[in-house]
This record gives sequence, C-alpha cells and structure tokens, in this order.
Amino acid sequence: MKYISTRGGMAPAPYSAILLEGLATDGGLVVPETVPQLTAERIEALRGLSYAELATEILSLYATDIPRADLAQMCAAAYSSENFVAEEIVPLTAIDEQISLVGLSEGPTLAFKDMAMQFLGQSLEYVLARSDRALNIIGATSGDTGSAAEYALRGKEGIAVFMLSPQGRMSDFQRAQMYSLTDANIHNIAVAGVFDDCQNLVKELSGDLEFKRAHELGTVNSINLGRISAQMVYYFWAWLRATDAVAADERAAFEVSFTVPSGNFGNILSGHMARAMGLPIRRLVLAANENNVLDQFFRTGIYEPRGAAETYATSSPSMDISKASNIERFIFDLLGRDTARLAAAWEELAETGRIDLTQELPRLDTEFGFQSGTSTHADRVATIRDVHASSGIIIDPHTADGVKVAREHVEPGIPMLVLETAKPEKFPDIVREATGIELGMPEHLADLLELPQHVTEMGNDAAALRAFIAERAVQA
Ligand SMILES: *Cc1c(COP(=O)(O)O)cnc(C)c1O
Repeated sequence: MKYISTRGGMAPAPYSAILLEGLATDGGLVVPETVPQLTAERIEALRGLSYAELATEILSLYATDIPRADLAQMCAAAYSSENFVAEEIVPLTAIDEQISLVGLSEGPTLAFKDMAMQFLGQSLEYVLARSDRALNIIGATSGDTGSAAEYALRGKEGIAVFMLSPQGRMSDFQRAQMYSLTDANIHNIAVAGVFDDCQNLVKELSGDLEFKRAHELGTVNSINLGRISAQMVYYFWAWLRATDAVAADERAAFEVSFTVPSGNFGNILSGHMARAMGLPIRRLVLAANENNVLDQFFRTGIYEPRGAAETYATSSPSMDISKASNIERFIFDLLGRDTARLAAAWEELAETGRIDLTQELPRLDTEFGFQSGTSTHADRVATIRDVHASSGIIIDPHTADGVKVAREHVEPGIPMLVLETAKPEKFPDIVREATGIELGMPEHLADLLELPQHVTEMGNDAAALRAFIAERAVQA
C-alpha cells in the first residue's frame, strides 16, 4: 500500500514514511492510494480475535511495509491491560434498548485519543529506530491531545516531547495528568498566554525550516494518518461485539449505525474508511456542539470554516473547532478521488472562504451514510441527567453531545453505537450541574493530584522556546 496526496502533488510513499508527517508535501493530506476491501467472510473470521489481534489484522492492510510479526508485537504492547483499564480494551455498554456506548476511554488519559496514540507511540519508536532518525514532537494543547501524546511517547527511544500549554487555563486534573510525568523525554512548558499563543509558537518554530530540520521537529496532530488508521480498528471491534448475539446466518449483512462526537473530523473519518472497506455500517451520524461547521456542511453541502470570533468556548471543549482539517480526506472521496477537483475546491476555499458542494448534497447520506446534528450546553446537561436517571450511567459532556444527536437518528431494528470519547471524571462541573453528584478521581488514579508536578514556565517568547528546545532535543 502506498500513500498519495489529496491534491496530487506527492510521489507515492509507504506507511512508515508518512507516519512522521500527516501533511503531504504539496499542502494536501496523505491518503491511501486504494481502499482495501474486506468480504463478509473475512470480517466474520475476525470475530474471535482479541483487540490487539484485530488491530494487527486491520493495520496490516495499511502498514504493508512493516513485517507482520513486528506489527503484532506493537499492537500487543499498545493494547495491553497495562495501558487500558477494561480487560476487553473497548467495552460496549447499553444505555437503553437501542443505544450502546463504545468505551474508548479506558486508556491512561481517560479519552479516546489514547486508542490511536498508544499505537502511534509504538510505531514511531519502531520506524525511527530503523531509519536512524530522531523526532522531537512539538505541540500545543489545551487538554486531551497533549496528555494522550505524552502518555504514548513517554520513555520512547529517539523521541522527545515539547508540549506547550496555556498557563493557568487547564483543569487541575489535566495539569496533574501531564505535569506529574517524570520521564526525561517529556517537557511540559506553561506559556504565559492563551491556547492560540501556544499554537502560534508551534507554528512559528515549525515554519522555520532550518530550525525544524536541525532539530528534527515534528507534530502528532489529528491529521496524522497513523492515528486515523489505528482508529478504524474500533469500528470493526464495535460491529463485531454488537453482532455477537445475532444469528450466524444473519450477521453478514447486519447493519449498525454509529454516532460520533466530532471536532476535527478525525474519529468519524476512520468510521468512513471502515465503511468504505466493507464494514456493514448503515449511518455515520456526526454530532457537533455549538461550533457546528460540520453539521452545517452535512445539512447544506456548504463547508464554511469560521473565524476565532465565531468559535465558542463550550462545555464540550474538545469539539470547539473553527475548521476541520480532516474533512479534506472525506471530500476527496466525495469528489471521486479526483485530485484536480479536490485542488480546485481548496482554491475556492482560499478565494471565497467556503466550498459549495450543494450539488453533491444528496450523496452525503445516500452514498456515504452521513447524517448530523447539533447539541448545546442545555442539551448536554439534560442528556447527562436523563441517561443517569434511566440507566445509572454517568457520561461526559462530549459523549452527551453524541447521545443527544443519536436519539434524533435511531431507526427501528438498527443498533445505534455512540462512541464514548471521554470519561466523566474529566468534567466534574457539568456532571455536578446535571446530577448533583460530586465525582472523585477514578480509583486507579486516586493519588494523581498529590504527585509533584514538573513544568517549565515561559513567557510568550519564541526565542526562549528555541533555546529551550535546542538544548534538550534528542538526536539520532
Ligand atoms: C478530540 C476529541 C473529540 C473530537 O474528535 P475529532 O477526531 O477531532 O473529531 C471529541 N471528544 C473528545 C473527548 C476529544 O478528546
């Protein structure tokens, strides 16, 4: 399997080459050249596998330049009971007769990003060792992504992490989670500023090609194809578990739908790819919060990113986006994988601030199975309260956005699987508002808040950051 750019300007490259860089050299996004097809029999043959074994099967279709035995070892290390609380790694839990939660938040940082990041940590270390390279990850985080990256890359050979966070703007839990790490290759930097300042610093250093090359800087953001490929695995897992009780002769065509709380369109893109491979997914329902650029796209066919002034800080903060970079990969498929049409669409975006795909609107649902909806703060509170009252289960605000929108899209006889993207313990305020319940820390993290914290405070100062990185960057 080779990887090409959505905009057609990159020589085909193997998986291990694109793992280090999600962005193609021509400014497009990297996508697989073809879509592997799995027959119903082949999917059925995956039923007895453990999560790590299933991951090996699915990822071996994409990471074709990594020997299978090595891939199996990486998947076993990533999806182990050391990293995940639930024995089955991804448990399914029914909240009513039709809707079940897919538990993607059993990992070290209590959010679904661990699912992909744990595999990426393994595979990056592997690829770097074989190519005699080092990688210094530089990132900005306001929460989930940074901590998931740090927990996946801690102690890895040939990798260091420089993670910028806005001073005083993260929750006690998030700070404790990141700053309590003691690994020598993890560097937490608290910048005197807001998240945008952190992101601008990252952009400035990444844009300085000489500095970037000299210190082998890289990023692991949501466009990373290693993450997207690892996320496909749990769609297969969830379908298999949801159909375990279906009669054997009815399984092959048994459709389920998914609802996915979405931000940068990474998680649901993996669902789209799994569906394209032949997994019997009826609908992919995108749930947005008040920042509903994507809901607007799937309802109207017009993709129109917003400015900072129209991007709201909500109580499901990991979905607070103004644009959704990964949508380029879906629109590539929508336009028949035609790089010229795709490039023209992105020129239209640069010129007019929007892409008008109203002509393709009917196909979004009929051909690709996409539907969408929006959920507000009031919806999240009501949904957390209601799910707790009816099932005894407490969900987090992102998952609540999912359940709210899922309920508007359930169809008779079709199981609806809502991806649980975080644990409620990360968001105690809204849980208290909804239920009056004071959530403590999960048992296995009980002493996290008491641990000593390691963080370097820094002004909003690119020169200081350069010096800090130059001194501590790992070398091959
Ligand atoms: C990152 C994140 C999302 C959004 O996922 P995308 O892949 O960006 O669509 C939703 N919920 C939580 C808790 C997250 O951390």
